[in-house]
Amino acid sequence: MLDLIIIGGGPAGLTAGLYGARARMDLLLLEKLAPGGQVMNTNWVENYPGFPEGVSGFELVDRMKNQAEKFGLEIRSEEVIGLELAPEAKGVITPKERFATKAVILATGATWRKLGIEGEDLLIGKGVSYCATCDGPFYRDMDVAVIGGGDTAVEESLFLTRFAKKIYLVHRRDQLRATKLLQERAMAEEKISFVWDTIPLKILGDNGVEGLETKNLKTGEVTCIPVQGVFVFIGTTPNTELVKDKLELDPNGFVITDENMETSFPGVFAAGDVRSKMFRQIATAVGEGAAAARAAEKFIEEQHKAEK
Ligand code: NAP
Repeated sequence: MLDLIIIGGGPAGLTAGLYGARARMDLLLLEKLAPGGQVMNTNWVENYPGFPEGVSGFELVDRMKNQAEKFGLEIRSEEVIGLELAPEAKGVITPKERFATKAVILATGATWRKLGIEGEDLLIGKGVSYCATCDGPFYRDMDVAVIGGGDTAVEESLFLTRFAKKIYLVHRRDQLRATKLLQERAMAEEKISFVWDTIPLKILGDNGVEGLETKNLKTGEVTCIPVQGVFVFIGTTPNTELVKDKLELDPNGFVITDENMETSFPGVFAAGDVRSKMFRQIATAVGEGAAAARAAEKFIEEQHKAEK
């Protein structure tokens, strides 16, 4: 039986893996895609300590992965499709096998939320995008709309200024949620035009985006913004399919833990964006990964003592 299985290979999972490996735990990290998580979609990270000039999301994650592997972390590309919880032994099931483990760290992160409006599903990949780093270069000299008012919407709008002719930042209120520094940069950027108090109603077009129909919530006015691309950054939903009926979740579906990252089930820990909390940063995710690994180690030590 393994000591620990970490599910998810973003910053939280990789840091838990680093600490677990250095604690000489018998552990495995399972990641359905390549390690990295949402950070891989971030072009440039400039608020992670130790990188005063900033670092690309790809490089940061690659460094985290190399560091964890250097100390012995094994990473396998396998999707976890089932989780069996019992006090002493947990079962982690992938399409290939079933692993028995004493502890589990859930670091499955979160996925971009969709708007749920007409035209969105039809035009995904044909002008509707959830990743400016991936798709921004396709919109050179075109006009695009960005939906949302948080850090992601503002940061990605700034990134899009490298390519797009004009960016309409469509926000449902008249104040941004994003960090002040990002707000200041966006306000100073000529290519970004703010569309306040406005929600998107419909994305227009059949084989490509031709416009965005919006409604001003204060005046009720319906307008069509002529854009060729719509980038949606309205927050995330947690990846909790595996534990929906097994762990205590908050009203938005994020996993509730105590200050040691332990969930409502003993020996199951959660770290990073999947966790219920106020602040979602790479810096907070790595701290939680480290804390979860230490707590898992302590859980196993106490189990051993109880067995003697
Ligand atoms: P977020 O902070 O939850 O912001 C979502 C934005 O979308 C809000 O402005 C919200 O409006 C708006 N929104 C939500 N549902 C909507 C809907 N149905 N229609 C229209 N607008 C809608 O999400 P996020 O920006 O993706 O950030 C997620 C987390 O990652 C945050 O903790 C953030 O700080 C962090 N993050 C940090 C950085 C960084 O530090 N550089 C970069 C990216 C993300 P309201 O404001 O009215 O609620």
